[in-house]
Amino acid sequence: MSARTAPLIRLENLRKEFNGLIAVNDLSLEVGEGEFLCFLGPSGCGKTTTLRMIAGLETPTAGDVYLRGRRITHLSPQERNVGFVFQNYALFWHMTVFDNLAFGLRVRGVPSPEIHQRVQEIATNLELSDLLEVKAAKLDLSAMQRVAMARTLVTDPQVLLLDEPLNNFRPGLREVMRGELKRWQMQLGRTMVYVTHDQEEAMTMGDRILVMNAGRCEQLDTPRAIYRHPVNLFVASFIGRPPMNFLPVHYVVENDRAFLVRNQLRWEVTPQRATIEDRISSPELVLGIRPEHILPADEAPAPGSQIIPAEVDLVQPLARKKIVDLKVEGTLIKMVLPGTHLIRPGETIRVIFDPHHLHLFDHATERAIA
Ligand code: ATP
Repeated sequence: MSARTAPLIRLENLRKEFNGLIAVNDLSLEVGEGEFLCFLGPSGCGKTTTLRMIAGLETPTAGDVYLRGRRITHLSPQERNVGFVFQNYALFWHMTVFDNLAFGLRVRGVPSPEIHQRVQEIATNLELSDLLEVKAAKLDLSAMQRVAMARTLVTDPQVLLLDEPLNNFRPGLREVMRGELKRWQMQLGRTMVYVTHDQEEAMTMGDRILVMNAGRCEQLDTPRAIYRHPVNLFVASFIGRPPMNFLPVHYVVENDRAFLVRNQLRWEVTPQRATIEDRISSPELVLGIRPEHILPADEAPAPGSQIIPAEVDLVQPLARKKIVDLKVEGTLIKMVLPGTHLIRPGETIRVIFDPHHLHLFDHATERAIA
């Protein structure tokens, strides 16, 4: 499902300004046929505006939108054959499920027998057959969401655009609905572009994720690649719960060996020396380590590992894990331990940073180095 082999949608240097405010800034990307692409980023970063430009609900200030290679930038939403599922579903509450599903087809002048056939078909696919005579206002949230999707899918759009469709769900149900939505997408083989500010949602559902910030693309890649290789400090801090820990460090070379130094602590990085020196703008760097990659040192650390004394500040049980706040040289960092691990606030423990999972960033440019 590579966007490179079969781009269904292509955005080229897309820009949107609202009275001088730049909502989307020079955004270029491709969405592959059958792909589930998530737009992820903080509130106000331009996710919805981008989605609305794909749908034709906003006109770009500059740049272009292509659908299957055809430039559609200035076509109306009706001329694009793109489906949009709004956050509040925008159903006709007083109408039955059947009439909600049939509405778009009636507007398009589709003959009645064909409407019946297409509505029945999509209702079967989305498990709505038993609800066709029920008024939309009487549905539960899960069924409402399926009607909102079915109502759009019945018109056979080339792509389905969804704007935070799970926002109205309480936390437990939200997770169930995530799985359901993903299952529908795979079953129907449809291309979907999905806006969310919830990283867990994007990580579990997306084939790829576009991480946005201030109208720009920070990183576009698979969830795994974004988690493992964040390209800058913004992505590193935005992805992962609890978030990645960051420690300012100084890069030094002594007797032909390279180290990251922070007061009494030092990590040897001689094998990465060439890469580091090639990419840094100054010796001031930031060392990043995810909480799950901080390990108790008592379990036979690898030779040469920097053993770090740490004071346990707070222990928070979380399902089968414990989130532990540690004080390391005056800085608070978080580690994750199995729930069975015995540990108490006030204790001094020894930990290591898993050397296979260290991240390094340039302090000035905030770009990842190694
Ligand atoms: P959220 O998750 O809060 O909806 P978002 O990432 O989807 O955020 P957008 O809704 O795309 O962000 O908004 C991007 C920026 O553009 C924001 O600063 C927003 O206030 C502004 N904006 C969006 N629509 C308009 C509009 N119609 N008029 C003026 N400013 C707008």
